[in-house]
Amino acid sequence: MAFTEKTRSIFTDEIQRIRDDGLYKEKRFICSQQDAEIEVEYPEGAPHKRVLNFCANNYLGLSSHPEVIKAAHEGLDTRGYGMSSVRFICGTQDIHRELQNRVSEFLGMEDTLLFPSCMDANSGVFEAVLGQEDVIIADRLIHASLVDGIRLCSAEYDTFKHMNTDHLRKKLEHHQDKRTRMVVTDGVFSMDGDLAPLDEMVALCNEYDAMLLVDDSHASGFIGKTGRGTHEHFGVMDGVDLITTTFGKGLGGASGGCVSGRSELVELCRQKARPYLFSNSLAPPIVSASIKVIDLISKSTERRDKLEWNTGYFRKRMGEAGLDMRPGETPIVPVMLYNARLANDMARDMYAEGIYVIGFFFPVVPAGKARIRVQLSAAHEKEHIDKCVDAFRKVGEKYGILGLGKDEIIARYGT
Ligand SMILES: *Cc1c(COP(=O)(O)O)cnc(C)c1O
Repeated sequence: MAFTEKTRSIFTDEIQRIRDDGLYKEKRFICSQQDAEIEVEYPEGAPHKRVLNFCANNYLGLSSHPEVIKAAHEGLDTRGYGMSSVRFICGTQDIHRELQNRVSEFLGMEDTLLFPSCMDANSGVFEAVLGQEDVIIADRLIHASLVDGIRLCSAEYDTFKHMNTDHLRKKLEHHQDKRTRMVVTDGVFSMDGDLAPLDEMVALCNEYDAMLLVDDSHASGFIGKTGRGTHEHFGVMDGVDLITTTFGKGLGGASGGCVSGRSELVELCRQKARPYLFSNSLAPPIVSASIKVIDLISKSTERRDKLEWNTGYFRKRMGEAGLDMRPGETPIVPVMLYNARLANDMARDMYAEGIYVIGFFFPVVPAGKARIRVQLSAAHEKEHIDKCVDAFRKVGEKYGILGLGKDEIIARYGT
């Protein structure tokens, strides 16, 4: 018996430390489709509760859209369940090619390569494209999957202060001796919902001969006038060299990701990116449904327009109710509470009111910046948003935080 009691206790101790630090992630079960209204079993074993979901990345409300489900069925019926192969052996169907072409067209890029997830795209892209003679200069708050991908690459790694283009300029100047420079950022940062200043960043990349990679996972499908993403929002569709994004958020919510951009860079990923070479192909039903998603959002901006309206309406009503939000324009709305326990307690009380939201605190966000992150969806109706705001008003009243700003909340609850 190799897994002795002594060995086991090493790991039970570690789990206990996670609990002691208040960082333990509870099990929660959704017992319905993913939608504006869901059935939740929480805590484990409790009776199902119908709640309004305000914490999914289901931005366009497509996770359970009838046409998307139908397209998945069609993919299943015509191309089968799975590929039993990685892409380059016998795992590429005509529909994989079709989805790649449709994504290139939608994002305004030269070529696209599908990956099992955006985490995989980010894990593979840097090592495939860059080497020791290059440098990566990344925003300090980029997504964990980009950080992991950069660690797998032998290029020098440098960072600039979050969204600080003056600092980025200094770093670009400093690295002019490298073979190439690649600037890396999220398009929309998932915790604060803020938009990277791509117009300024593209100008800097042009001035200092650098490539720009944007992870647009929290933007593809709904940011920008026709939902192409952060590069459309800032009017720099031609200035971004690589986009990585996911099909697991706004674009249907199942799974899959891609690298899209300059054809030579995408080709190098096809030749060398390890998650592309060594992990299974995206399943046909997902590919087929993702093509349908691109169809739907290319034909009409109705869903991203509704999401924009919902976001504006929610922010306005929450402001009137006296809650302290981080300003912004994306469907990620951080309700700032600063104190971890307060964020947790309020999220629990919101759940009792039938609103599903989650408290975020260190280490997911910096210490002293605890919050409830609300995410709007095109699946929300006005009544859903009204109910959510009413619940925030009621729970906010209970904790005496309505109308209070940062300093006052911290004075009362600490950080
Ligand atoms: C969610 C997310 C990912 C991971 O996407 P998956 O397809 O779920 O692996 C990568 N980058 C960013 C910025 C994300 O928000």
